[in-house]
Amino acid sequence: MTAAPRKVAVIGAGFGGLALAVRLQSAGIATTLIEARDKPGGRAYVYEDEGFTFDAGPTVITDPACLEELFALSGRKLADYVTLLPVSPFYRLCWEDGDIFDYVNDQAELDAQIARRNPADVAGYKRFLKFSEEVYQEGYVKLGHVPFQQFTSMLSAAPDLMRLQAFRSVYDKVCGYVKDDHLRQALSFHTLLVGGSPFAASSIYALIHALERRGGVWFAKGGTNALVKGLARLFQDLGGELRLSAPVRKIATEKGRTTGIVNADGSFEAFDAVASNADIMHTYDALLKDDARGRAVAKALKRRRFSPSLFVLHFGLKTPQPHLRHHTICFGNRYRGLIDEIYAKDGLAEDFSLYLHSPCATDPDMAPPGCSTHYALSPVPHLGTAKIDWAVEGPRYKERILDYLEKHYIPNLRADLVTSRIFTPKDFETELNAYQGSAFSLEPVLTQSAWFRTHNRDDVIPNLYFVGAGTHPGAGVPGVVGSAKATAGLMVQDLVGATA
Ligand SMILES: Cc1cc2nc3c(=O)[nH]c(=O)nc-3n(C[C@H](O)[C@H](O)[C@H](O)COP(=O)(O)OP(=O)(O)OC[C@H]3O[C@@H](n4cnc5c(N)ncnc54)[C@H](O)[C@@H]3O)c2cc1C
Repeated sequence: MTAAPRKVAVIGAGFGGLALAVRLQSAGIATTLIEARDKPGGRAYVYEDEGFTFDAGPTVITDPACLEELFALSGRKLADYVTLLPVSPFYRLCWEDGDIFDYVNDQAELDAQIARRNPADVAGYKRFLKFSEEVYQEGYVKLGHVPFQQFTSMLSAAPDLMRLQAFRSVYDKVCGYVKDDHLRQALSFHTLLVGGSPFAASSIYALIHALERRGGVWFAKGGTNALVKGLARLFQDLGGELRLSAPVRKIATEKGRTTGIVNADGSFEAFDAVASNADIMHTYDALLKDDARGRAVAKALKRRRFSPSLFVLHFGLKTPQPHLRHHTICFGNRYRGLIDEIYAKDGLAEDFSLYLHSPCATDPDMAPPGCSTHYALSPVPHLGTAKIDWAVEGPRYKERILDYLEKHYIPNLRADLVTSRIFTPKDFETELNAYQGSAFSLEPVLTQSAWFRTHNRDDVIPNLYFVGAGTHPGAGVPGVVGSAKATAGLMVQDLVGATA
């Protein structure tokens, strides 16, 4: 007698959910991908306003190989679905005193810029790069896509983590290599892109530097959502079912196993296994609230530290801005002081540091002819840290950011403004079910990493799985795509007894 075909549900079509669904469908498992919103992408949603294309979230695409792998599973090519364009410089870093550092991939150009700051830092940077390579090999290549289901897996990784001084922070490690203050910021700010403070995130996260130097920084033609659409199309070409505007109300359980899902209209659908790409707290606290396991884990999760939130201001201008690079990091006068406030202060800081996205530098089609598309992103405390009424504060904060950008980066900004929209911590909570409006789920500190993060398979409900920023290895597109590989490995083994 042959076994009945397996049928699984993946809740949430963020990058993690999409990557998992592609892997499962490629392995021959009938997969239904169920998304609450009207478009796939999750944090990588897209808005189209008056001819401007606004990517909602990720804009820095690194490690294209992890994306190419998803297409190669079925003998296809990423290039047949979406075009990736190289971005250079990777980032332009600017300070209020007029200092500029172009973070490029050309070693000679990098060395020359570093030497102008402090000749001794050229050798220091090379030693940092070597360290970054080592943590990349250990933390990304070796452990970035394996599930940490047992504590023993953590123990076997421990000697290497100790050797690499994973208990020290990224900033602390960087200070051991270079002396120039701005260079220290340039080599440590990356943790913020995955929700971590450079002063608290494990030095393992210095791997992001090697990841960028090795694989480059890319932008999908048409915007990151073109990549999302490419993955959604791949999944459907493989025979998968993608449902949009279909919020899941509940994960059904019986006798310690999940039996399927309950849709918003109350209808039940049976599945052999369920994987959630939705926020981990939302999954345990809301979708599993009728199950003792859900209530217990939600209670434990509430004691964990969640990453801060973000305030995102999208705007379209009727002029091109050729002086702006694709990615600009606009450092304010304070580094540590500001970051500490974002992670702990009940209220908004007086100053800010911004990330300014100007995609027309790489792809002019992101705006109508002669115009330019931008977003400014400001890390802000999440709703649990700062009790801010964003309905009131959001429009005010927007004005502050516009003033700042007009003064320092975009003269005539207000006169050239055609359209704008904001996305606040409250929107992260209501639109994405993100606990406390956190932009990156659990904060990436050592005590919340690997085995200490939400497991890719639940410890008690054996056919319930997790994928995305709240699981190992964590936030960021390569992170959640890696988590999908870890989760797919478990699911394929559990469901069909093979390795994915
Ligand atoms: C503004 C911003 C900029 C960023 N920039 C970068 C960058 O440049 N590079 C980078 O690598 N990373 C970046 N990141 C981080 C990266 O975008 C995220 O870590 C990653 O996209 C999260 O993916 P995920 O798979 O965890 O799912 P998410 O994107 O969180 O998607 C989860 C999905 O689940 C859905 N869902 C929730 N509840 C339900 C339910 N009950 N039923 C059905 N569906 C549900 C949600 O609607 C959502 O679509 C950025 C993040 C933000 C917010």
